[in-house]
Amino acid sequence: MTVSDILILGTGLAGYVTAMEFRKQNTQASVSMLTAGQGHFYSKPTVSTAYAHARSPQDLITQTAEQMMSKYQLNVMTEQTVVEIDSQQKCVRTLTGQTHYYQQYLVLACGAQPRVLKCSGDAIDSVFSLNQWEDYFQLRAALNGSKHVLVIGCGLVGAELCCDLRSGGHQVTCVHDADWPIHTLLPEPMGQALKTALCETGVRWVGSDLVTSVMHDASGFKATLESGRVLNADVVISAIGMEAQIDLAQRAGLVTQKGIVTDAYLQTSDPNIYAVGDCAEVSGWLLFHITPLRRCAQALALSLSGQPTAVSYPAMPVVVKTPCCPVVVSPPLLNIQGHWKIEGQGQDWLGRFESETGDLLGFAVTGQCVRDRAGLHQALVPWMPSEH
Ligand SMILES: Cc1cc2nc3c(=O)[nH]c(=O)nc-3n(C[C@H](O)[C@H](O)[C@H](O)COP(=O)(O)OP(=O)(O)OC[C@H]3O[C@@H](n4cnc5c(N)ncnc54)[C@H](O)[C@@H]3O)c2cc1C
Repeated sequence: MTVSDILILGTGLAGYVTAMEFRKQNTQASVSMLTAGQGHFYSKPTVSTAYAHARSPQDLITQTAEQMMSKYQLNVMTEQTVVEIDSQQKCVRTLTGQTHYYQQYLVLACGAQPRVLKCSGDAIDSVFSLNQWEDYFQLRAALNGSKHVLVIGCGLVGAELCCDLRSGGHQVTCVHDADWPIHTLLPEPMGQALKTALCETGVRWVGSDLVTSVMHDASGFKATLESGRVLNADVVISAIGMEAQIDLAQRAGLVTQKGIVTDAYLQTSDPNIYAVGDCAEVSGWLLFHITPLRRCAQALALSLSGQPTAVSYPAMPVVVKTPCCPVVVSPPLLNIQGHWKIEGQGQDWLGRFESETGDLLGFAVTGQCVRDRAGLHQALVPWMPSEH
């Protein structure tokens, strides 16, 4: 059993950045952190570009849990899976039967989980997904000595993985349910430019198709597609997107939608419980990216130290780490009125999403046009202005 002023569930970037920012404000309050994993401090985005650079799992660790504990006066408890939040008793309970109390606040920073691949076959449990450091550890081991990798899904992470694994010398086949990568964010010309670049590096592209089963076979795995096509691979990775972890919060009676619902102060429906990072739906925004997470963690740290601070969002473009065709995209917000103006050729495309009055609401650039990104970023209308 432990008792702390502040208890943070999760040692991903959201949990650690909140703790580090809080320590800038307050060195007295006791802060405990719980994680189901090893508690290493690392940058998750490096996971999808680490293979080609021959970075071992250990190379990705910036600080170990022990180092974080002594540097920021934290009590980090690793390999502790929380199974229950008891908001009446102000505590959480773990799989091993331990209880950890918070006297002031509980911060939920429990992240997102990979979407479940809905298909049949006896090898479903052997399909990898890449979310935590521990996943990279296991995938690296499986890739050793394997030749052919099947990547299911070509969103941001899938596209980066295809590029990374190909650069690392693997044969890569990618099955995607649309005709071009990252189709939910990229207009077609940019998506086609990225697809062509991936294919030119040697990635075998199978578009507009779905994997319906994954089976073991003598040489590894056999995936059957909706079209009837059959693909063989030594390693299968699913990169079909993420879902916020809301189960614990839901069972504790907190309001949830697609994420754990918070206001702009990161406060949930329980005034003593906050949520931050991939698990949090902040004022209706569910964003699985680093920049919003950092802004939220900074605002939350101030609130936790007695200076209530609402988060605001500037426009936050996303850099896709595909060296074969650099991409930066700031997608227009859902349901916002406007239209794309797109120009370019080959790999080099620039698209501006403008309102009727010419305001820049989004952009996407590929290839050489990436050099225009700073100017475009500056011209973007903020997503959530600070006066909201
Ligand atoms: C491969 C990959 C590449 C990415 N690249 C980019 C990029 O280039 N740019 C970008 O902006 N974003 C990128 N992202 C997204 C970004 O990394 C995430 O938004 C961010 O890392 C989420 O941090 P988090 O702390 O909210 O969650 P996580 O890092 O998932 O941390 C969750 C923590 O909660 C703990 N936890 C969860 N449930 C429990 C439980 N029941 N009991 C105990 N502990 C629990 C976990 O152990 C973990 O410590 C990428 C994501 C991936 C997977």
